[in-house]
Amino acid sequence: MVRFEHAGDDATAGDHPLLSADVLVVGGGPAGTWAAIKAAQAGADVVLVDKGRCGSSGATASVGTGIWYVEDEAELREAAMASREALGGHLADRDWMAPVLDETCARMDELARVQRYPFPVDAHGRQIRDDLQGPEYMRRQRTCVQRLGVRILDHTPALELLADADRVVSGARVLDRLTGQMLSIAAGAVVLAAGGCAFQSKTLGCDVNTGDGALLAVEAGAELSGMEFSSAYAIAPMGTSLEDGPAPVVLAGSDTAASADMKAASSAPRVRSCSPGRTRRRARGPRPRPSPAAPA
Ligand SMILES: Cc1cc2nc3c(=O)[nH]c(=O)nc-3n(C[C@H](O)[C@H](O)[C@H](O)COP(=O)(O)OP(=O)(O)OC[C@H]3O[C@@H](n4cnc5c(N)ncnc54)[C@H](O)[C@@H]3O)c2cc1C
Repeated sequence: MVRFEHAGDDATAGDHPLLSADVLVVGGGPAGTWAAIKAAQAGADVVLVDKGRCGSSGATASVGTGIWYVEDEAELREAAMASREALGGHLADRDWMAPVLDETCARMDELARVQRYPFPVDAHGRQIRDDLQGPEYMRRQRTCVQRLGVRILDHTPALELLADADRVVSGARVLDRLTGQMLSIAAGAVVLAAGGCAFQSKTLGCDVNTGDGALLAVEAGAELSGMEFSSAYAIAPMGTSLEDGPAPVVLAGSDTAASADMKAASSAPRVRSCSPGRTRRRARGPRPRPSPAAPA
């Protein structure tokens, strides 16, 4: 059960109303909603705060999402992991890949059974689970979170983490943008699920992805790892030089490039998201294919 108290004027909470719960989830995209669902199913009191609106904001809510869904068959799993190893320059760690594949299968099963997500079916009637429509997916996630009794605070960004005297994170200070009031939320556990950083590209729901979770964590003393693998996206109109053949490399890391891209895309009938890697590959042109006439 969620409890409201007045926090008093102490160093931790400040002079704000205090909300307390077992688990505070910061962010209401796929990561945050699954965290809230699992915590609530385990019996915890959960509060979820979102800077935008849980179910409509973030990178998934406005796009189709490709899912790394691989049936639990040894041969298929082996091939899937091997393909990703090459893609990742053989830096990938199978100790992480295997649990990701397990978790993905389990969550997609749950999405089909509990949230009743309408996966399309193939010619044999088998559900095709390697793609999700973001708006439909996230609408169902929000409903599921609400049904489990999680208290959702929309338009309420977390601004800083609270820590106790031993520097253990004990909650967060948030801003209710509808009333302009600051709130302190005390929690036994805080899950940071505020998405990535889109470097102000504003691409496809990424207006809210300003790296807040990483910043909050660093401010609380966490160390980040793997940041050199961060990627940025831009969108480009299909059928233009950005889509096929030699093209300039467009990075969403700069406001100018991304907004120019967005303006071009808004008048185009179809757009596709491009990562810098994909754009660079396109800029180099198609991969050479072995010619049948060439000697082996
Ligand atoms: C164009 C594009 C295409 C992509 N395609 C794919 C794909 O095909 N497959 C794939 O797996 N991934 C894809 N991604 C990556 C995608 O970002 C993630 O898969 C997924 O959205 C991450 O989920 P998330 O919950 O971590 O973050 P998000 O879905 O971004 O959700 C973050 C949430 O946190 C909230 N938030 C942010 N800051 C705060 C704060 N301070 N306080 C409270 N709430 C906050 C936001 O409002 C938002 O609701 C794509 C990304 C982009 C940009």
